[in-house]
Amino acid sequence: MYESTRDASCVVNSAAAIKMGISPEGGLFVPTEIPKLTLAEIGKLAELNYRGRAVEILNHYLTDYTEEAVKDCVEQAYTKEKFGTDNIAPLYALNDSCYILELWHGPTCAFKDMALQILPHFMTKAMEMTGEDKEIVILVATSGDTGKAALEGFSDVKGTKIAVFYPKDGVSDMQRLQMVTTLGENVSVMAVKGNFDDAQNGVKQLFTDEAFIARMAEGGCKLSSANSINWGRLVPQIVYYFSAYADLLKNNQITLGDEINVVVPTGNFGNILAAYFAKEMGLPIHKLICASNENNVLTDFIRTGKYDRNRDFKLTASPSMDILISSNLERLLFLLSGKDHAKVNEWMKSLKETGAYEVDADTKAKISDLFWAGFADDEKTFSAIHDTYETYRYVMDTHTAVAKYVYDAYVKETGDTTKAVIASTASPFKFSPNVLKSLDESISLEGLSEMETLKVLSEYSETKIPVGLSSATELPVRFDKVIERTEMEAAVSDWLEL
Ligand SMILES: *Cc1c(COP(=O)(O)O)cnc(C)c1O
Repeated sequence: MYESTRDASCVVNSAAAIKMGISPEGGLFVPTEIPKLTLAEIGKLAELNYRGRAVEILNHYLTDYTEEAVKDCVEQAYTKEKFGTDNIAPLYALNDSCYILELWHGPTCAFKDMALQILPHFMTKAMEMTGEDKEIVILVATSGDTGKAALEGFSDVKGTKIAVFYPKDGVSDMQRLQMVTTLGENVSVMAVKGNFDDAQNGVKQLFTDEAFIARMAEGGCKLSSANSINWGRLVPQIVYYFSAYADLLKNNQITLGDEINVVVPTGNFGNILAAYFAKEMGLPIHKLICASNENNVLTDFIRTGKYDRNRDFKLTASPSMDILISSNLERLLFLLSGKDHAKVNEWMKSLKETGAYEVDADTKAKISDLFWAGFADDEKTFSAIHDTYETYRYVMDTHTAVAKYVYDAYVKETGDTTKAVIASTASPFKFSPNVLKSLDESISLEGLSEMETLKVLSEYSETKIPVGLSSATELPVRFDKVIERTEMEAAVSDWLEL
């Protein structure tokens, strides 16, 4: 079962948690008990492929789904056709102590696919199981990667519709092209005049607008979320940490029971929280290393126990981590405080009212024990891309490079040489101008189209351009609507013909 972080009386099964997305009072759903795997069970995962591993892990959480249903979701989501490889999440050895977990082989070239390829299947199964007669309408605000991954996942999924709002000038050209060329009869994409917060606040407002929700219901529609506040987006992410460990075992790079460190480039705290769940389930993880860009609220928080978002919002070369409110931290705080709903409510209230809160000494001590944190500015990020290529001939994107920089800083500061897995969250092609600039300053990109830039990177790195990105530069633009922040409700109503 799953309980809300803010209300002890709100307890639901996984199908309901996934369908609802968020608890009615604004809390997030957390499993009432974290399942445990024995070392022997973890060892057995090495014999399975990614799909087999996913079924094993997911079955521990989606206990109200039949095993057949879970298997069905996994087999539809993680195909060679969609991921271009049967490995789904391959592990690349930079050397014999540092491994890159490539989570970007999915259709949109960012790690969001690992969850958003399977979430729509969880959702439609949940609708069948609960006898849902309404159409599920997914509203998404995106600063870049979530929008396209959600569109790709929900495109033409029966019983669902999806609308994505992106800040008109707040996404990269490639990210915009990927979204506005999306195929599918049930999708809509709109640019909102303003920044990401405007789009996000607009969507949040719709979720709590009673008149709008009533009109939706009359029209046979019900709202849900595809952001990482939805448990259905977190649970598939636990799988790949087990899978990375299983690959290390299979390749004799570790022995069963050996500890590893995990390094995660972090924004909304979803990905690293999944690694925390893996550790709690029994995966031998020593330290969880949280890497931030210059929006380093989390670095400060992990080091001091004080969360303070009162600072300038910086636009960086790792835009998917440009965030000052990391929603999923609430789940960690809930668990580490001993499931203290009152404390979580107090901290979240303080965050909302003052933009800051400080956790108690006990919770802070637990955080320091589990996590290590650091950050990289753009210059350090670019040099991490450059140096990694010079040393290993391996090209990484800007987000992964933030993690690589922080990992090196961790080793230097602590002397801990435990083998480490770095979560690589995007294909370098997705951020090719900054990647190229970092690889070789002398490359000139002036006047090049998006597609030409991809070609330069392809030639330079001797790797293929991902299909998802080249097609975005070739497909016709289907969505060019630009709306005011105040027109979001009207735009959704129009689109749904309410
Ligand atoms: C979303 C995203 C992140 C941040 O992940 P969180 O789960 O929000 O912490 C990092 N890198 C890339 C490329 C992303 O798209």
